[in-house]
Amino acid sequence: MSYDLLLQAVEYAKGVGPVKGDVLKKELMVFTFEDILTYYPYRYVDRSRFHTIEQITEEGVFVQLVGKIIGIQIHGLKRKARMTALFQDKTGTIELIWFQGLKWIQDKIVQGKEYVIFGKTTLFNNRFNIPHPEVELYSDFVASPKDKFQPLYNTTEKMKSKGLDSRGISRIIKNLIAQAANMIPETLPQWLITRTSMVSLEQAFRMIHFPDSPQSLESARYRLKYEELFLIQLHLLSVKHNRSEKVIGVRFPVVGKLFHQFFNQKLPFELTNAQKRVIKEIRNDMGSGKQMNRLLQGDVGSGKTLVALMAALIAADNGYQSAIMAPTEILATQHYKTINTFLSELDISIGFLTGSTKTAERKRTLQRLKESGIDIMIGTHALIEQQVVFPKLGLAVIDEQHKFGVEQRARLWNRNEQPPHVLVMTATPIPRTLAMTLYGDLDYSVIDELPPGRKPVKTLHSYDAKRNSLFDFVRRQIAQGRQIYFVYPLIEESEKLDLKDLMDGYESITRAFPLPDYAVSIVHGKMNQADKDFEMERFVKGETQIMVSTTVIEVGVDVPNASVMVIESAERFGLSQLHQLRGRVGRGADQSYCILMTDYKLTADGKKRIATMVNSNDGFEIADVDLSLRGPGDLQGTRQSGLPEFKIADLGKDDKILKDAREMASMILDKDPGLNHPANALLKKTLKTKFKEAAVYANVG
Ligand code: ADP
Ligand code: MG
Repeated sequence: MSYDLLLQAVEYAKGVGPVKGDVLKKELMVFTFEDILTYYPYRYVDRSRFHTIEQITEEGVFVQLVGKIIGIQIHGLKRKARMTALFQDKTGTIELIWFQGLKWIQDKIVQGKEYVIFGKTTLFNNRFNIPHPEVELYSDFVASPKDKFQPLYNTTEKMKSKGLDSRGISRIIKNLIAQAANMIPETLPQWLITRTSMVSLEQAFRMIHFPDSPQSLESARYRLKYEELFLIQLHLLSVKHNRSEKVIGVRFPVVGKLFHQFFNQKLPFELTNAQKRVIKEIRNDMGSGKQMNRLLQGDVGSGKTLVALMAALIAADNGYQSAIMAPTEILATQHYKTINTFLSELDISIGFLTGSTKTAERKRTLQRLKESGIDIMIGTHALIEQQVVFPKLGLAVIDEQHKFGVEQRARLWNRNEQPPHVLVMTATPIPRTLAMTLYGDLDYSVIDELPPGRKPVKTLHSYDAKRNSLFDFVRRQIAQGRQIYFVYPLIEESEKLDLKDLMDGYESITRAFPLPDYAVSIVHGKMNQADKDFEMERFVKGETQIMVSTTVIEVGVDVPNASVMVIESAERFGLSQLHQLRGRVGRGADQSYCILMTDYKLTADGKKRIATMVNSNDGFEIADVDLSLRGPGDLQGTRQSGLPEFKIADLGKDDKILKDAREMASMILDKDPGLNHPANALLKKTLKTKFKEAAVYANVG
């Protein structure tokens, strides 16, 4: 049998048909046999053991009992009627209750016969009872045993109305598994299954839906998780292999005059060891003749910009241009200024282009670029527009990468004959497991060290009710010449409300810090770009002491004089966002503070987030907690970056499996990069089937 069986339309599965099939498609995006087989239970009800009545000590738990019904009573009348039955086993009695279907159940039950009862306990008037239990004659139960662990599936109201409740789905899957017995094609080669001691795909499907023991469930889970993670890693790594085979990289043979001049004469400080290591890695890539595709992670303030700049100098030394692309005008402007200052008096020309560059200026810049009169081109999205022509692009640096779509990135170099080296930089630390999946086809560098002499930001938790003492503290800081951020949350769904919070906050702050002694800037998403820039500029120049804003300042601005970050309603921010915001202060030599303002009432998650912030300054540690709290899908930036959706693997928990799977994939490809060996034929086929449209990773070069 071929793979085709799994691709059959779901309505052809026994018990489905066109009506249910339609509901499955609309409600669950379940189209094929495979889709429904991979619609995994979220939980299992354990019917593998029996309980006794005296063991019942909790409400809300499922119990299975054997015993006899020794009395039935009807209470109330007509629609208000209910029926109770006293059930007895060796250890005691418990009441069973029905509010509906009384007639039917009354007819069915025979007093004195032995029954198996299954249901969820509730506590009423200090006594346990079981409403609407499943009731089955013990003799029937023995004759046709139940599934030991009954699967529970998520369903919607619409599904339930068409008979697709959890049990309905379970029935369909059970039939399908029987129908497909010995016909579910294996996706992984036998040698791999043997070597990793896994179960077959067919067995895994059977056991994930109808496990006969906790151990068999575990081995099914392992197999399915491993497969998911392994195939993605195999895909990503083979994209990487192919690219490094096929794409010839620009070779930069020398580290020349500009680089050395900068290093010896201009660099105002020692590089950190981490910076040195990363520059060496980049240098090796660019000298290798292969195209560099490297992800550089480093916490805010770790000095990534400088690394990018030094890479650009190597390109210039070899007669090539560089593009440095930032996600916002403010950030691009800042890069431009910083880099200009760093490179003053060096024989190198720097260009600048954003959406708001005036027409005449733009024309001149584009012309200069085209004539190779610009070595380092800094800008925003504007750099990927069609008219922007780099005759000799050798390096593309993309800062704060998650704000750029993969496709946008690719546009910068796809139209070039020879693709440039690519350095993607991100200040959103993401856990290694996530990085391996999101950027698994890129090489990976990390700056895990901050420049010396920085005082770690002190993080404090305070309460809305203590606002006056907060204001006093802020006043004292301003008296010492410092600047302050007040940041308010902005979540799309409650945008109006949030804007009101922000404006209320702004008002109370301007009242507490009035003109002419103080000046307050405000920036939020509803303002136009020019106004935002104007306000930002005033703060950057030190004309205002306080910046009140929504998270628009989140990305990268550098105001070393700002020493206090007050985050309002801090419990509403995600961890990585809080960490990013905190990174806006602590850039100068002074002690800086991050103050997390919340209500007294906090959820457990909220408490954990605040505590994590107060106790840790380590972006990677924080990212790990974030991943464990929220799951990978919600982590900042991951959704736009095309994180694949997993049906069963969990990047927050399955790091060991991921690591093993990646190692295995890497080992296979090292020996057989094209997967041409007969032993790998099945893998090649599986990859083709699974990733035929998923070119998302492939166009990074
Ligand atoms: P990132 O982009 O990683 O957030 P930046 O490159 O903006 O960080 O660097 C933050 C600040 O630290 C800048 O003012 C930069 O000049 C400075 N800096 C970078 N490297 C060093 C170093 N090795 N020693 C001292 N200061 C440094
Ligand atoms: Mg930066």
